[in-house]
Amino acid sequence: MSELDKKKGGAPAPKDWTYAPAPESRDVVHIAERYGHFVGGEWLEPSETYETISPATEETLASVGLGTDEDVDRAVAAARGAFANGWSALPGSERAKYLYRIARILQERSREFAVLESLNGGKPIKESRDVDLPLAAAHFFYYAGWADKLEYAFPNRRPRPVGVAGQIIPWNFPLLMLAWKIAPALACGNTVVLKPSHTTPLTALLFCDVVRQADLPPGVVNIVTGYGSTGAALVRHEDVDKIAFTGSTGVGKWIQRETAGSGKRLTLELGGKAANIVFDDCALDQAIEGIVNGIYFNQGEVCCAGSRLFVQESIYEPLIAKLKQRLTTLRVGDPLDKNTDVGAINSRDQLAKIEELVQSGIDEGAEIYQAPCRLPEQGFWFAPTVFTNVAQSYRIAQEEIFGPVLSVLTFRTPEEAVEKANNTPYGLSAGVWTEKGSRILWMVQRLRAGVVWANTFNRFDPTSPFGGYKESGFGREGGRHGLEGYLRFDE
Ligand code: NAD
Ligand code: MN
Repeated sequence: MSELDKKKGGAPAPKDWTYAPAPESRDVVHIAERYGHFVGGEWLEPSETYETISPATEETLASVGLGTDEDVDRAVAAARGAFANGWSALPGSERAKYLYRIARILQERSREFAVLESLNGGKPIKESRDVDLPLAAAHFFYYAGWADKLEYAFPNRRPRPVGVAGQIIPWNFPLLMLAWKIAPALACGNTVVLKPSHTTPLTALLFCDVVRQADLPPGVVNIVTGYGSTGAALVRHEDVDKIAFTGSTGVGKWIQRETAGSGKRLTLELGGKAANIVFDDCALDQAIEGIVNGIYFNQGEVCCAGSRLFVQESIYEPLIAKLKQRLTTLRVGDPLDKNTDVGAINSRDQLAKIEELVQSGIDEGAEIYQAPCRLPEQGFWFAPTVFTNVAQSYRIAQEEIFGPVLSVLTFRTPEEAVEKANNTPYGLSAGVWTEKGSRILWMVQRLRAGVVWANTFNRFDPTSPFGGYKESGFGREGGRHGLEGYLRFDE
């Protein structure tokens, strides 16, 4: 127990105090043994399958289709047919009805979706229940509202749908990324073929059930599962008008090269290495919560995670002491336990990547601190980690780790904070903690990041555009800006 706990007069908490297990029931979820692709409103029998697992237990959950070029071709044809045969010509107010219906069904079935998301992806049920699901529904509600107001959103520009959108998403927020992609596309009158990440296909497959329940015309939404090669087939397909990709910068660069000169529209949401900047006049306890939320939310598997912490030198010592103390209270374990703060790492590959980068931090000379916690023997786990004594040149300060690992650096002046924060190839998000409104505005004007949070972190709302600078990509999702990627204008 640290000095910080021994408040005068207060009795210290007993050392072996712990939470009783509080597992969420899995009964609400029915997982089929085998899934095909969802094409033209029907289940298409896959020619090949692979197994999707729970990263917390390594148990197999289901066999899932491995999409071939032919499967992708059929899905694109179904999307083209639905686009031409009515969907694109439907009045916006009619399209809105379907989107509202989807939003309401997601709310009604939110517990089922949340449990499945945590099972397949490893994220704590607390987060899938309180963040992923409400936000996914909110995106459908929000874009439903725009469907009949496009002429007002873009006056005198004759907004019209682009056509068939190929959408490729990662594993860290499977259903939420699906919502970010599908809601604006449909609101604008496009049809879609979406490919989920191979490690987390199950909520996208359950979403097909919602699509049917909402009576969406067949072919408006098509889902093809598989690995990167399935995504590549979608990228290369000649009858796809637009590619929307969220994932790693490496794959994003390949997609940009591949689509160059093809006439396909493209938006890319890629990686990040966000600076979370804490000034000495901040509300320190709130900042600690913001730092913890910034890097340990979703096991740090967040593109906009606050993975580089910049602390003003004058508060370095008290801040680090409080942060380490706070880490000891994080509960790591079963994603389905309602008290879990940090769940399982999404895959064995991702765990290996985290371990490799953490080792590089140790080798380069940084000082490591890990929260004391017992990690389960089965599954993929990594203890919440803080590195101090980090130089800007270290790999852990430059490369995206995509895990619960924080690199701490220091600064003296606001100018120095800006310069160090911008010293990255990425530019997705940043955070500023200070009491002074004028300083927030000064910082926001200078930080090269698509989103800057002030005295908060990882806060999302469908009305607010999200996207990157530099190697974090281009295009915006969310807000009125999020419509533009799915519209063409006759000017
Ligand atoms: P990834 O790039 O490996 O995969 C993303 C998706 O692309 C998956 O569905 C994958 O199957 C597919 N894919 C892989 N190779 C492909 C190819 N050649 N052509 C077409 N599709 C291909 O990324 P990941 O490991 O699944 O996710 C982690 C990465 O995603 C991180 O770098 C993270 O920063 C980024 N991310 C960004 C955002 C954002 O909004 N900016 C959000 C979440 C994740
Ligand atoms: Mn990957």
